[in-house]
Amino acid sequence: MILVTGGAGYIGSHCVLSLLEKGEDVVVFDSLELGHQETVDTLKLNFPKNFIDFIKGNLQNYDEINEVFNLHKIDAVVHFAAFSQVGESVKNPQKYYFNNVYGSLNLFKAMLEHDVKKIVFSSTAATYGEPEYIPIDEKHPQNPINPYGNTKLMIERILDDYDKAYGLKNVRLRYFNVAGADEKSRIGEWHEPETHLIPNILKSTFSGGKTFQMFGTDYNTVDGTCVRDYINVEDLINAHLSALDYLNNGGETNYFNLGTTDGNSVKQVFTACEKVTGKDIPVEVKGRRAGDPASLVADNKKAKEVLKWTPDKTLEDSVKSAYKWEKVLQERLERQAK
Ligand code: UDP
Repeated sequence: MILVTGGAGYIGSHCVLSLLEKGEDVVVFDSLELGHQETVDTLKLNFPKNFIDFIKGNLQNYDEINEVFNLHKIDAVVHFAAFSQVGESVKNPQKYYFNNVYGSLNLFKAMLEHDVKKIVFSSTAATYGEPEYIPIDEKHPQNPINPYGNTKLMIERILDDYDKAYGLKNVRLRYFNVAGADEKSRIGEWHEPETHLIPNILKSTFSGGKTFQMFGTDYNTVDGTCVRDYINVEDLINAHLSALDYLNNGGETNYFNLGTTDGNSVKQVFTACEKVTGKDIPVEVKGRRAGDPASLVADNKKAKEVLKWTPDKTLEDSVKSAYKWEKVLQERLERQAK
């Protein structure tokens, strides 16, 4: 049985979906502050024969997470539950340190209490901070430039110490920009408010959508807009399944970048969205968004070698599945509004 924290959120729910497809028994633990009950319901509906238990709870409450381990014999944990908005973390760091760091401490404590010693942890390219070189490999110094990145780096350090002291084997996966959705559009990205590039461009094409705002066209990049490495969510989740196999096969604590090695500028992403939607999308050019580095591109050799993982979806694939899902989501929200 696998415990997925944050399993009602965007990336976590795609992990739950893949685990269910593999025939695993899954326990989802989520506070539903950012995750959605509808997402859990959809997963349950699509896998009527699987074991899937949903437990609503907050990692900041030790008893709530500890109870999950009392109820179920958990073999390994995949830990997604976290707040992840950089801007918000700067304005309200306390919220981030309590939720991300203290919440993780409680989770690890409950795991150790129940002798659960395997965990895959969602880390981030934000732990590297302003890149000193591109592409970024795992040896790149980790100097986060915002509280969100700090929380994730702190958890990585805690995991190192807990492995040394308690034998808590862990794999930290450092995500670049996650994009796309389930190919069958059962689940997808659903943030309120949405801050990410691809869903924001796509949302602007629906009636009542806000005009897409492009933040900064004066960066030192191919076309002046920020360059990012967009990794498809299904590809990303495959790396989590490989990481679980790696730990189950006795793998030592390790950490990997998850990206494609392909950089795309905001303008290139915008063009891909126009192509996929077949629409002329209006755009408003704005100033730079605080805290955005010009370029972030992954070196993914280590994950390829050790986890035998290769991402195979293109940016266009991600935009296509994101658009299909966005239509489903818009219809659902319209129905709910009636
Ligand atoms: N971006 C933008 N308009 C938006 C959202 C994002 O121009 O509505 C830009 C943002 O400034 C950055 C890139 O798109 O350069 C990727 O931003 P996102 O928030 O998707 O991911 P991040 O790289 O911050 O994790």
